[in-house]
Amino acid sequence: MGIERADVLILGAGPAGMAAALYASRAKLDTLFVERLSPGGQMLWTHWVENYLGFPDGIQAFELVDKMAEHCRKFGIREMSGEATAINGDAKSGFEVVFAGDISVRCRAVIIATGASPKRLDVPGEVELTGKGVSYCATCDGAFFRDQVVAVIGGGDTAIEEALFLTRFASKVYVVHRRDSLRATKILQERAFANPKLEFVWDSVVERIVGDDAVKAVSLLNKKSGTTTDLALDGVFVFIGMDPNLAFVPETVKRDESGFILTDAWMKTSVPGIFAAGDCCSKPLRQIITAVSDGATAAFAVSHMLG
Ligand code: NAP
Repeated sequence: MGIERADVLILGAGPAGMAAALYASRAKLDTLFVERLSPGGQMLWTHWVENYLGFPDGIQAFELVDKMAEHCRKFGIREMSGEATAINGDAKSGFEVVFAGDISVRCRAVIIATGASPKRLDVPGEVELTGKGVSYCATCDGAFFRDQVVAVIGGGDTAIEEALFLTRFASKVYVVHRRDSLRATKILQERAFANPKLEFVWDSVVERIVGDDAVKAVSLLNKKSGTTTDLALDGVFVFIGMDPNLAFVPETVKRDESGFILTDAWMKTSVPGIFAAGDCCSKPLRQIITAVSDGATAAFAVSHMLG
């Protein structure tokens, strides 16, 4: 088994992890920064960012990721790629974080910044047709639907932002929402209601995704009338929220009722020496700017703890 050592181990390379890495390295902590794939986290799933302070004209998401990665590497951090499978030990005797592939890292503090992944609808046809018309990433798959008809499922910021993005390619974008008003922020709602390519299907839930080799339709149940209808289309984009990526985190790290990690103002969890930052935390606002703030705070708290 390969063993690495560090004072602080940062898990996750989204904006929270990158900000933690920047602050930890500037605090001269012996820091090991672990990314599962390439840096960026959920930022890589979006096209354009227009609410990150300092970019009044907006910025391409991948460009912002590159700038952040370059910035956090500038102060010399050690990086490793890997997928954590368990956290053992405690702050007193030290932690051992185990990774797939027989690698482990011994450290004195852990910052969990592993983000969240898209929720599934859990309806028949979804798994079978994923990659054949069912998608969770408009940036990745939108261009495959040029001049075709798609539906976006959900009524939050992600659903509306991505529905608007999809109008660049698709001839028509249905937004299927389970209620009759959107959760998305007002400025996105205004844009969505003004876009002639968007059509809203209210009070409706997907019962089934229909197709063999490719998506052909979705069966929709109207919750008010109780009727079911098939909506013919070529693609289904599911944006119904996120689940935190915490399978490797011990039960002793307390969560809220939705499974997100509870932290205090220092980003401390219920387990001394384990900190959390970004979208895997229980919080009212999940944004790049709040993830960055969490990461900076967590690294600051670790530097206080380690003295
Ligand atoms: P979200 O805010 O939790 O919204 C999820 C949406 O999906 C809600 O409209 C919800 O309906 C619906 N939904 C949930 N479960 C469903 C189900 N089983 N079937 C059908 N519909 C379902 O999630 P999100 O849009 O992914 O956003 C996550 C966080 O990231 C939020 O804090 C958001 O503000 C933030 N975000 C911000 C930006 C931005 O600032 N530009 C962009 C993207 C995301 P109800 O409304 O009825 O609950």
